[in-house]
Amino acid sequence: MTTRPDLSQLPHGLGTRPVDLRRGLPIPAVNVHPDGEVDFISINSEKAMELAVRGRCGLCARQMTGPVAFLGGPTAAEAGLYSDPPMHEECAEAALTLCPHIARPHARRASERRLEHDATHAVGFSEEKPSEWVLLVCNGYGSALTPAVDGGLVPVFIAGEVLRARRFGYQEGVLTEIAEK
Ligand SMILES: [Zn+2]
Repeated sequence: MTTRPDLSQLPHGLGTRPVDLRRGLPIPAVNVHPDGEVDFISINSEKAMELAVRGRCGLCARQMTGPVAFLGGPTAAEAGLYSDPPMHEECAEAALTLCPHIARPHARRASERRLEHDATHAVGFSEEKPSEWVLLVCNGYGSALTPAVDGGLVPVFIAGEVLRARRFGYQEGVLTEIAEK
């Protein structure tokens, strides 16, 4: 038996999103595709770019004021380059516990499916599920278009000045924040 995700701690913005009835999860803005299809694995890159350019959160689509957050593996954090758009820090935190692709260890099937489904990821971007996630909080961001595997162009988001890097790893199957040394 599967338990429904606990949505009582949702940040305000995500709480206003429509909920996917099958999964019981709020639907992130970037996971709604032009035909209205909802796919939790692949992102709508046009929508991602539009939200970022307008200063809106990729998950809840509300305005971001002050620092923004990026979510990805250590490689993305080191390079400061992301295929997923910036978001509120509290929305990123919610994604860490709710997003099925992130919350469960070894959910590799999701990233494989993403590769299959989404031929539009950027060249040089690894979609392998990282063993550790970094929530990068930074001042500002940029965006650019970069060549995609299918020959088109996809957005890439560039982290600004890094204020904090919060690390999360899987401990006994649960994603847990790793305390700063
Ligand atoms: Zn948000």
